[in-house]
Amino acid sequence: NIQHLIDLRPVVEEALHLLRATVPRMIDIRLQAEPDLPAVMADATQVHQVLMNLGKNACDAMQNRGGTLTIRLASERIESLLHSPSPDLHPGNYLRISVEDTGTGIPPELIERVFEPFFTTKGHGEGTGLGLSVVHGIVRGHRGAILVRSKPGSGTVFDLYFPAVEHQP
Ligand code: ADP
Ligand code: MG
Repeated sequence: NIQHLIDLRPVVEEALHLLRATVPRMIDIRLQAEPDLPAVMADATQVHQVLMNLGKNACDAMQNRGGTLTIRLASERIESLLHSPSPDLHPGNYLRISVEDTGTGIPPELIERVFEPFFTTKGHGEGTGLGLSVVHGIVRGHRGAILVRSKPGSGTVFDLYFPAVEHQP
């Protein structure tokens, strides 16, 4: 884990480029990035890995009918713990990466378990159940947080928060 002050946008673009080359054409992959995103202290290789794992899962969930994978990059300010989406996210500025798909969704009774190592609903030889536990570990290693919300039959969103490095005046 070697973290540098970097712009994550090109890292995200590179991962999306790779995903586009490997997934069926019925899956549309889009990037929506705000201008003037903050830099973060991050390991580019690890963030690349995170996007590949999340992107692969999203595409698996859209395998049969096709669909849209949307990655959003936004800067988000958390004003107080009271307004924080997670107790792990302290007040401050964050870079948020949202990975949204229009796939099968995750049943509510399973959503708590998706970050557990070896938890998989995929068939023999199709999933190791390690992707999201690796993603979780990497995000924690960046002092960030990951949240998931999902609606069965409609899709899933993973929100990743990376602490932003404040601009020096
Ligand atoms: P694997 O992909 O090898 O099964 P992961 O840790 O990547 O392991 O994911 C664990 C499980 O979480 C998956 O088997 C699937 O049930 C669920 N899951 C993860 N991402 C999504 C998604 N985008 N849509 C629907 N289910 C998902
Ligand atoms: Mg996976």
